[in-house]
Amino acid sequence: MPRKPAKKTEDVPAAASSGRAARRAELEAVADDVRARAAACSDLDALRAAVAGCTACSLCETRTQTVFVDGDGSSGVMFVGEAPGYNEDVQGVPFVGRAGQLLTDIITKGMGLAREHVAICNVLKCRPPENRDPTPAEKTTCTPWLDRQIELYDPRVIVPLGRHAACHVLRVDAPMGRLRGQVHELGGRKIVATYHPAYLLRSPGQKKECWKDIQLAMEVLGLEPPRGRSS
Ligand code: SF4
Repeated sequence: MPRKPAKKTEDVPAAASSGRAARRAELEAVADDVRARAAACSDLDALRAAVAGCTACSLCETRTQTVFVDGDGSSGVMFVGEAPGYNEDVQGVPFVGRAGQLLTDIITKGMGLAREHVAICNVLKCRPPENRDPTPAEKTTCTPWLDRQIELYDPRVIVPLGRHAACHVLRVDAPMGRLRGQVHELGGRKIVATYHPAYLLRSPGQKKECWKDIQLAMEVLGLEPPRGRSS
C-alpha cells in the first residue's frame, strides 16, 4: 500500500488554527441561540423560566439548579458577581452565606436600602464544579442571559463585585485597582466596580475602599448615606 505522505510541519499550525476557528464559530452559534432565546423573553418571569431550562453549556450537567437573581431592582442598583458557589447552587439564591451577609450589610447598613429592592445576580447562572473559575467559553455562552437581565431591569447603576465580574461587565482585562474608584460609562449605563465581599472577608482593611465605591454608586442613585454613616 502506498504510504500516506507525512504531514508537513507547516500544516500543523494551520490545522490547529482552523480547529480553533471552527470551535469559535460553534461557540458563537450557541451564544447567538441563547441571545435569541433571551430576546424572546418579554419579562423577567419568562427569562427566569428560560434560564432554568438552559442546557447551552456543560454546567447544566453539574448544577443543582440555576441561580437567576435576588431582588426586584426597584432601587435602580444591580450587583453582579461572577458565578454561584456551593450555597447559592443549593438554595438557588445568589450571594448567600458569609459573603452574602456582608453584601446584605453593605446594602442595608451602608446604602440604607432593602435587599429585596436591589437586583443581585451573577455573570454565570450555574455553579462551576468545585467553585473553579468559569471558562471564557462558559462566560460567552451565558452572557446573553445577563445582557437581557440588564435590559429588563434597566438599572441606573451596575456594581460588579470583584475583578472577574468587573472585567467582564466593563469588557476589559485590568487589575481591580484600575477599575474601582470611578464611575464608568458603557453603552449608556453607569458602572461602579468594587471588591467582592468574599475578598473583603479575607481583607477587612479594604472595606473602607469598598465604602468609597459604594458612595459613588449612591451618588449616581441620588442617595444620602444613612444617618451616622457619612465616611
Ligand atoms: S451556565 Fe449559563 S449557558 Fe451554561 S447551562 Fe447554565 S444558564 Fe446555560
